[in-house]
Amino acid sequence: MNERYSRQVLFHEIGKAGQERLLNSRVLLVGCGALGCAQAEMLARAGVGKLRIVDRDFVEFTNLQRQTLFKESDAADRLPKAIAAKTRIAEINSEIDVEATIADVNNSNVESLINGVDIVIDGTDNFQVRYLLNDACIKHNKTWIYGAAVSSYGTTMTVIPGVTPCLRCIFDEMPDAGSSPTCDTAGVIMPIIATVAATQVAEAIKILVGDAASLHRSLMQFDVWANDRQRINLSEPNPDCKCCGQRIFEFLDAEAQEFSAVLCGRNAVQIAPPRATELDLAQLAEKLQNIGEVKQNEYLVRFISGENEVTVFRDGRAIVKGTDDISAARSLYARFIGV
Ligand SMILES: [Zn+2]
Repeated sequence: MNERYSRQVLFHEIGKAGQERLLNSRVLLVGCGALGCAQAEMLARAGVGKLRIVDRDFVEFTNLQRQTLFKESDAADRLPKAIAAKTRIAEINSEIDVEATIADVNNSNVESLINGVDIVIDGTDNFQVRYLLNDACIKHNKTWIYGAAVSSYGTTMTVIPGVTPCLRCIFDEMPDAGSSPTCDTAGVIMPIIATVAATQVAEAIKILVGDAASLHRSLMQFDVWANDRQRINLSEPNPDCKCCGQRIFEFLDAEAQEFSAVLCGRNAVQIAPPRATELDLAQLAEKLQNIGEVKQNEYLVRFISGENEVTVFRDGRAIVKGTDDISAARSLYARFIGV
């Protein structure tokens, strides 16, 4: 066995057999912001053999305070987070495999993303995706680990289909948009990120090495500033739950999901093309030359139009900064990208 894992192998509950299982495990990380970075780094160092990282965004300077896989040059280059994470993880542990996907997780792709992994870990920043993940994981009998952090507090819960309550057993309805604080309105400090991510990863490792008896079986809540910790024990799934009880997958089966969305508190809007597409970025960059400065890397094209900075990804999505108005962002999109 590779000596890099010797201290972990000495930990009795993992041991040689557990390490072997980790090396053969596959984990999907949904979102590679602060939680995702911390989760990915811990799992990579632990020797989880395959990480699939999906994220829709690019690195910005405001991320560097807590998103530990990224560096200043990633922000300057506006690298997609999934790519910057893959590059950094290859420097940390070149023996594991990282699959980086630059995409918005929605009901058209979530089932293929969770396909083939042993476990799914939540590193997203919004409830829309969490309810969708909950639907997809219950439907396909996949364990997922919910986690959220904002300000100095955070929460986590491990969802094992048929065994534990699911997200909708606990929080039946999705909170109204704008009703909960976000990192962009209330801020966030690194220690709560580390606390929540560490709890999620410990749970993931317990499951992957086959020690389900050690799972915390609760809704855990932490506040690292107020020095509070709460653990609400969870029992059985709720038989009346729409998702895991009645198996009605409202979020997964939603007919017309609106892929365009205001990115909460960021003064930015994401616009998605009406159907799957693959842009020729070089051609787009050339087309945009006459409107002003256009920056381009392998993954995206960025340009300025008036007050707005527009970043376009190869899958046709654009993030329009400088507005909270979807229709204004849409018209910019139609004018300059027009897929
Ligand atoms: Zn449920």
